[in-house]
Amino acid sequence: MALRPVLQFPDPRLKRKSDPVGEITDEIRALAQDMIEVMYDEPGIGLAAPQVGEAIRLVVMDTGWTEEGAEKNPLVLVNPEILAKGGEITWTEGCLSVPDFQADVERAARVRVRYRDLEGREHEEDASELRAVCFQHEIDHLDGVLFIDRISRLKRSLYVQRRKKALEREREEAPAAAKTGRAL
Ligand SMILES: [Zn+2]
Repeated sequence: MALRPVLQFPDPRLKRKSDPVGEITDEIRALAQDMIEVMYDEPGIGLAAPQVGEAIRLVVMDTGWTEEGAEKNPLVLVNPEILAKGGEITWTEGCLSVPDFQADVERAARVRVRYRDLEGREHEEDASELRAVCFQHEIDHLDGVLFIDRISRLKRSLYVQRRKKALEREREEAPAAAKTGRAL
């Protein structure tokens, strides 16, 4: 089966606030599995449900698997929330939904997060550095916030212009694809 496509900026679905997951159904478990496959395929270290068009508070993450010799160890976060933040860190971020762009973002250096797993068990974790950044980036997605919403207005508008031009070029070069009504 084809993998779910990742929505890309400026798709308006990326700006929605997602709803909490209620009962953890087979459908939710299947979506989490789909998201894990997309994350490894792209490749990325985190993916939030709104990025595949589902406005629910579900995230998958694996911050270690790209390191040499590391094994895949996907984490599924149901209704994750940040309980506490501390310190400051500047991290160069990118996003599967924001093509061809990276920028420095100021984040909390440490976070305490709470989430449920697919069995409904509650977990709390203290994270720092990359892992803390990843939690904040993914939970932002659930609130309709992209990392480019957290950089200077000038940097953001330069990217938005560049992205618009790239999309115009894509449409000119592939008129057939544009006619399908696919969100670009
Ligand atoms: Zn992202």
